[in-house]
Order: sequence, then C-alpha cells, then structure tokens
Amino acid sequence: MKKINVIGAGLAGSEAAWQAAEAGVAVNLYEMRPKKTTEAHHTNNFAELVCTNSLRGNNLTNAVGVLKEEMRRLNSVIISSADQTAVPAGGALAVDRDDFSELVTKRVKEHPLVTVIEEEITEIPEGITVIATGPLTSEPLSKAIQAFNGSEGFYFYDAAAPIIDKSTIDMDKVYLKSRYDKGEAAYLNCPMNEEEFYAFREALVNAEVAPLKEFEKEKFFEGCMPIEVMASRGPKTMLFGPMKPVGLEDPKTGKRPYAVIQLRQDNAAASLYNIVGFQTHLKWGEQKRVFRMIPGLEQAEFVRYGVMHRNSFMNSPELLQQTYQSRKRDDLFFAGQMTGVEGYVESAASGLVAGINAAKLAKGEEPIIFPQETTIGSMAYYITHAEGKHFQPMNANFGLLPELPERIKDKKSRYEALANRALTALEAAKETVAN
Ligand code: FAD
Repeated sequence: MKKINVIGAGLAGSEAAWQAAEAGVAVNLYEMRPKKTTEAHHTNNFAELVCTNSLRGNNLTNAVGVLKEEMRRLNSVIISSADQTAVPAGGALAVDRDDFSELVTKRVKEHPLVTVIEEEITEIPEGITVIATGPLTSEPLSKAIQAFNGSEGFYFYDAAAPIIDKSTIDMDKVYLKSRYDKGEAAYLNCPMNEEEFYAFREALVNAEVAPLKEFEKEKFFEGCMPIEVMASRGPKTMLFGPMKPVGLEDPKTGKRPYAVIQLRQDNAAASLYNIVGFQTHLKWGEQKRVFRMIPGLEQAEFVRYGVMHRNSFMNSPELLQQTYQSRKRDDLFFAGQMTGVEGYVESAASGLVAGINAAKLAKGEEPIIFPQETTIGSMAYYITHAEGKHFQPMNANFGLLPELPERIKDKKSRYEALANRALTALEAAKETVAN
C-alpha cells in the first residue's frame, strides 16, 4: 500500500498523521522544528498551542463544543489528549499546554505506522501528501504553494472584520439596500445620526487595541487600515470611507442618514453578516462594547471578532474540494489554519478529515465528505463554498449549519436541536469512515 506524507506536526498535521496511521496506512511525518522554528512556537513539541491554553467551549450548546464531541467520536488524538490534560476552566476545555503537547507528541511518535522526519520541506512532494504547515509556513514552502496555487492562492495577512449572527440583528433598525440601488438590494444598512456618529467615533478612537507581536509589525498597515486607525485620522475620515452615506437613503424616511455602516452577507445561507470595511485590531471585549453602539447591533452576537495578524491562508473556495483535496491534484491535501479554518480545534478537525481521506486514497477507496449538518462537515463546506473574493478564515459556529426544518425561537433549545442533529448525522457518517 502507498505511504503518505504529512508536512507539519502542528494541530492539523499531528491529527492527520494519527488518523491515517489508525486507518492502517504508513505515514512519513515531516516537521521542521527543532532545526528551524517559527516566530510563534517556543518548544519542540508537536501540536504546540502558540497562544492561549484554551480550546474554547466544551458543551453542546456551543458549536466548537459540538465539534469537539464529533472529533472525540472520530478518535481524535488532539481532543483525547486535551481531555487527559485538562485544567479547570468552567465551561471551556483548557489544558496544561506542556502536558498536552508532550502527550500528543508521544502518542504520534510512538505509533508504529508513523515515521517522524525532522526536516523542513521546501517543495511540494510527489505522492499522497497532506500539507499542514500552518499560518507561519516557512518561506520556501510558502513560495512553492503560491506557485502551485497561482499568485492569488496564498495570502499573508489576515485582516478580518467582525462577523455577526444575523438572528441577533435588530431588523427594525436596519434596512436592506445597495448603494444607489445598484443590483439587487444586498446590504443591511445601519443608519446613524450626527450625534450617534461622533459618540461612536469617540468610543472607537479611545478603545483598547490588542498588542502586536514583533513579527506582525513590519507590514501591518500595507493592505488595509484598521477602522480605529482610520477613525483617529480625523473626525470625518470614516464618512469618506466605510461609513459614507451617499446613495444609501433610508427607504423609511427617504432621507440620507449622517453616516451608514453596511453589513454584507457572509455565507450562502445568509445567516452571517460582516461589517464592511471594519477590519480591526481592537481587543475582543472592546469590539463587542463599541460595535454594539451601532444601531441595530445592540444585542449582536459576534461569531468571529475582527483580527489583523500574520496568517497565511489559501483562497480555499477557489482551490480546494470539500474533502480537503486540491482541485488541481487529487493526491494533494491541505489542512489546518492555512485552509481558512480558524482556531486550534478547527485546524485539528480539518487535519482529521484530510488524514482520513488521504488514507482512503492510499487504500484505493473514495474520500468522504462529512454531511453539512455536522460541524466538521459545515466547516469544509464553508471554506469551499464561501465567496472567494472576500474569503476570510472562519471559526466553527452554528450559523454555518443548515437551518432546522422547524423554527425554534429559544436560542438554547435551537442550539441543542442543532447539536443533536449534528451528532446523529455524524454517527451515520462514521459508518462510511470505517468502511
Ligand atoms: P501549526 O499548529 O502552526 O502547525 C504547523 C507546523 O508546521 C508547525 O509545527 C511548524 O513548525 C511546521 N512547519 C511550518 N513550515 C514547515 C515546513 N516547510 N516544513 C516542515 N514543517 C513546517 N488559535 C486559537 O484557537 N487560539 C489562539 O489563541 C490562537 N492564537 C494564535 C496566535 C498566533 C500568533 C497565530 C499565528 C495563530 C493563532 N491561532 C490561535 C490560530 C491557529 O489556531 C493556530 O495557528 C494553530 O496552531 C493552527 O494549527 P495548524 O496545524 O494549522 O498550524
């Protein structure tokens, strides 16, 4: 049987190697550390957590909690190691970071079908390969991936605006319209009067920003400016940028508001909206406080906060299949943060799917697509079906799952129903994984 290559022993690569080996396929796992390290890693361990030690929510009324449960049921080395090294963290799954990554390293290294090779890979290898080299992929390989995918295929900076769960927007305060009524009415518009605008600007310029890492500073402002920086340039600067009201007369009054903030549909199901032009480096708590001042967003739930950091990720909607295979080369898989999934657990989850599918290919079987009703399948669906032009990495969230057949108003009950449906769909899909 063919052997497979996994490149990168981070969250995604460790999981991919484990899954393939558990499926009975021999794996060469390449990791460049300790010979060469990244700007964010500090140890030689596999699956190092480069920042927080929290893998976020652990209960089933939380999408990332459901994702963890799906992964537990799929024999995830990342989640079972996290469970074994957990520290008290309320409803979250947090771990002792050293114990956690040491345990993952030990289990993966000791697997009889895994051969670990400490080497930096600089070219995309031949043969069945999973590339999982993360947001800080070393430069030569980044260039090779860019050359393979085409120039637009691998971005270097993640400048994302916050994304909001549509069901939490006050629809009485916003209106649907495109600027100058061009094309179909596509944007939700949040109108502001003069007083609201200046209070909002004041809050924005005085809000606390997240500290920048040394390696993030040099190119930070090149592409797009954080909204708080734009606000600080002058009292009216935003009125000529993302908050300009021209062509956005409020249909209820027929008048042009003093300022308008536009929300753009973010997923095919129209359950998520992003704030147009609001890439930001504010601390998350500050984003919630300040952006809830926007009319219509007083109760908004942010499924993803705005971020600006170095982050290499592919334009997956154009480049990947739902199985995490490249559209250009069936035996080449990508996994982890570089595919546009966001977060430790999501990265590991994509590695899990890529590992299962790489093993299936090696065994001459058909790769599987997890149903969209599962959170693991909804992530794969999202990154391969989002709009390519505005594609930004995404956390697991309930907004990515197809709507329930019935409308459940109570949020907790709705999330429970989504979780139950996800786990039922997962159990059915497991049969295909095993076959
Ligand atoms: P990684 O875990 O980074 O694994 C990639 C591996 O590939 C590394 O071990 C690396 O050494 C290796 N590698 C790279 N290039 C090569 C090569 N050419 N040859 C061989 N090996 C190579 N997510 C969260 O959920 N919470 C957070 O707090 C958080 N903080 C973050 C902070 C920073 C600074 C960054 C950059 C990201 C953060 N993320 C966070 C996002 C993301 O979840 C992590 O980056 C996560 O580690 C991604 O998993 P991965 O497997 O894709 O990549």
